[in-house]
Amino acid sequence: MERKAWFDVAVFRCANCGRFYVDASWYAVALESDIECGVCHTNFNAKKELTDRALLEFMINEKGKIREVMIDKHLPSKENKE
Ligand SMILES: [Zn+2]
Repeated sequence: MERKAWFDVAVFRCANCGRFYVDASWYAVALESDIECGVCHTNFNAKKELTDRALLEFMINEKGKIREVMIDKHLPSKENKE
């Protein structure tokens, strides 16, 4: 029996220097959090700078450790077309 778990993640980039970040979608998209870039220290809105969103699938071993991670599917990165 395969043990699995899923994680909805958002990919976004710093509005100033272009550095990419990945964080939980509930944090980056649902809460529309402001993020401080670790490289250039610019504050930007993660949702506005979103480039992708995906559901990751984790294969878990019998000890509860992550064995493998893959992309289950890409999710729409914008709810409303603007
Ligand atoms: Zn930056």
